[in-house]
Amino acid sequence: MATAFVPKESQPGETRVALVADGVKRLAATGLSIQVEAGAGLSAGVADADYEKVGAKIVTADAWSSADLVLKVQPPTLAEASRLKRGAILVSFVYAIANRQLAEALVKQNVSALAMELVPRITRAQAMDALSSQATVAGYKAVLLAAARSPRMFPLLMTAAGTVPPARVVVFGAGVAGLQAIATAKRLGAVVEATDVRYAAKEQVESLGGRFIEVPGLADLEGAGGYAKEASAEVLAKQREAVGKRVSEADVVVTTALVPGRPAPKLVSADQVRTMKRGAVIVDLAVEAGGNCELSELGKVVEKHGVTIIGLPNLPATVPVHASELYSKNVLNMVKLLVQKDGALATDFKDEVLAGSLLAHQGRIVHEATAKALGTQMVTA
Ligand code: NAD
Repeated sequence: MATAFVPKESQPGETRVALVADGVKRLAATGLSIQVEAGAGLSAGVADADYEKVGAKIVTADAWSSADLVLKVQPPTLAEASRLKRGAILVSFVYAIANRQLAEALVKQNVSALAMELVPRITRAQAMDALSSQATVAGYKAVLLAAARSPRMFPLLMTAAGTVPPARVVVFGAGVAGLQAIATAKRLGAVVEATDVRYAAKEQVESLGGRFIEVPGLADLEGAGGYAKEASAEVLAKQREAVGKRVSEADVVVTTALVPGRPAPKLVSADQVRTMKRGAVIVDLAVEAGGNCELSELGKVVEKHGVTIIGLPNLPATVPVHASELYSKNVLNMVKLLVQKDGALATDFKDEVLAGSLLAHQGRIVHEATAKALGTQMVTA
């Protein structure tokens, strides 16, 4: 019987767990033997006893070296990767392009690494799409952080003591996180406007009750997989012109704009921040990719020109129960593709979702774009 191991996340500030109790129960039903490191689910609201009730064995970190399958949230550390059994399967976020040493360690250990950030964005893979599930949580939390920091309220209030106008919220990037930010801000009663470089975003923004800010003369920049292509300096200037007045009048700006494989586009300049109202709040969800706002600082909440700029990373970890429940479903659906009828783990990874997510296999980086970005010497160990 193959063994799956769920370690306790070791990255500081990480509160999520790769499988919650329901995930363990469903995975155990496929015939896998499941081991969970003691305390792995505590910060996500799952006690060791909850895991035991659904058939998991509570173990120490020693289980790293004997597991056939390791299920994680954050990329393993180099020390953790070196403990993986040769030929084991890893299911986790990996971000190999930003972490060459980890890619090398996985290749060296002959690990088959399925990287959650590489799950193809096709309809069939939506149930495994952890980028989307976690971006949903981040978009929601971004608006709550902004509302809590704002010196103003969100809804329109007509009271005997006077009228409070609704907050004005501007969202940059109407992808998964941006759409959830729009929906959350609308529910709180704000007037919401959004900008994106993909035409398809307009209808989605409007369906949530937001207003799409048209950029005159903008060509559709939707590329492969529904992602955006990089905008030219000319397009960014046009966008700045179209959005500038709204940003100056905004109480809250949430930025979520990303372009795969590129630094985040700089969409809110220092000069633009200077034009904003005192007490306005910017939440920069792209901060880990360099930030959409010129003045945001990774890991910090700063005040610049009277504007609060929130550059906190990993917002999903601040909502660990639901972020873990969603991630656990993504991982479960991924692993179900791996488990064969007799409870053994697949070794061929032919399924298109597995093939698309496969980063390293049999001592090679097999994901073409990653191998290219890391340099050809990485293709074979
Ligand atoms: P993302 O996180 O890469 O980017 C966030 C948003 O930023 C995107 O909407 C992008 O267009 C936008 N952006 C990039 N440059 C910009 C700029 N200069 N100004 C303003 N906005 C800019 O993308 P995402 O949210 O992960 O996904 C984007 C889209 O991909 C989704 O809306 C959807 O259409 C598609 N998608 C498809 C599937 C699927 O079919 N399984 C799953 C998830 C997403």
